[in-house]
Amino acid sequence: MTAIFHRAPRQTLPVAVTGDGIEIIDAMGKRYIDASGGAAVSCLGHSHPRIVEAIEQQARKLAYAHTSFFTTEPAEALARHLVERAPAGLAYVYFVSGGSEAMEAALKLARQYFVEIGQPERRHIVARRQSYHGNTLGALAIGGNARRRAPFEPLLIEAHHVSPCYAYRERLAGETDEAYVQRLADELEQTIVALGPDTVAAFVAETVVGATLGAVPPVADYFRRIRAVCDKYGVLLILDEVMCGMGRTGHLYACEEEAIAPDLLTVAKGLGAGYQPIGAVLVNERLYDAIVGGSGFFQHGHTYIGHAIACAAALEVQRVIVEENLLANVRERGMQLRASLRERFAGHAHIGDIRGRGLFVGIELVEDVVSKTPFAPERALHVAIKREAMARGLMVYPMGGTVDGWRGDHVLLAPPYICTCEDIERIVERLGDAIEAALAPFRA
Ligand code: PLP
Repeated sequence: MTAIFHRAPRQTLPVAVTGDGIEIIDAMGKRYIDASGGAAVSCLGHSHPRIVEAIEQQARKLAYAHTSFFTTEPAEALARHLVERAPAGLAYVYFVSGGSEAMEAALKLARQYFVEIGQPERRHIVARRQSYHGNTLGALAIGGNARRRAPFEPLLIEAHHVSPCYAYRERLAGETDEAYVQRLADELEQTIVALGPDTVAAFVAETVVGATLGAVPPVADYFRRIRAVCDKYGVLLILDEVMCGMGRTGHLYACEEEAIAPDLLTVAKGLGAGYQPIGAVLVNERLYDAIVGGSGFFQHGHTYIGHAIACAAALEVQRVIVEENLLANVRERGMQLRASLRERFAGHAHIGDIRGRGLFVGIELVEDVVSKTPFAPERALHVAIKREAMARGLMVYPMGGTVDGWRGDHVLLAPPYICTCEDIERIVERLGDAIEAALAPFRA
């Protein structure tokens, strides 16, 4: 009997007891390859000795000091590490304890900035359909997932949604990349104009979509055009890199590959790699100066911001990534993973798309690869894949569910940055078997 209010109480979960590199071992001694890093979190695998040591050392020195009294050495060092490598202009870090908190803080920073500079009418947030930015009320409100929003709708702020950059399904037949991204930029511009340009505060997007669509990178030039539209109307660009940031795509910040800098950038999962709960918002100097030079403080805070142990753990995670040159491994193993999946599923009747960047890889399953018709939602193929994978000692992150009327089955892979060539081959082999087993009833 459990006294925990599990999210899905009717499900019986194995008990995770220890971690060993890329594997988790349960109470029965069964090993699971963590090919999804949980939910793109555990980027250094489990029980990494350097992180364990850093946590122990910091706990002995000082676990926690409230930020209205003190700053701490690990928080200062971590902030420096992050901004020294950040896209242009992102010069300050606001620490929080997770991804949703980071998104809440980013939304409030955007809003407060406009209040400070005398543009209080800027209140609208534009985001994208089929998106997920967290589960707290603000983050949930801007997310483009109608099913998740539905029960809480009366409590949510108003948000507006435009199309995601999702070429597999939404690029028109014969449309070039250039025409497609221009159409998306035009849609954003028209939405801003329709709302009234002086009333729009921010546009929010995940740089590489992880949370709802399974590792969808933007089409070339998409973000440069989006940045240009935002600049034209004085709208802030908030990039959510909670899932795709901190090296997951092979660059510390995913937007490095887009050659643009946002005004606010959120990170979380890979920041602390699951060793401690921590998130952060990287803030453009202009916003920081407006707030510091205006009212003088950000009207928002949490008890655990800048938690000393969390920052010490995250700092060590980031040092390991640099010292062990893990971003290069992410890029190489990522290429191997996608190539290996394409080989394994070549000509497969139900694998519609294999995509991603670095060790952030998505597979989209369809009933028919030509028409791209999804499987019937009530058959929940993605749930069966997860079950079959777990039975084979493999963790993958399944996605499905109604997302603004659209439905499909995806599998997200986000293995730890430390994984080897052999690990990748084991992942592909077990996943291939799990997918075939899950599809068997559909073929019967
Ligand atoms: N933003 C994105 C893109 C996410 O994937 C998630 C979580 O999956 C969040 C925000 C929310 O993060 P958290 O679950 O840490 O609150």
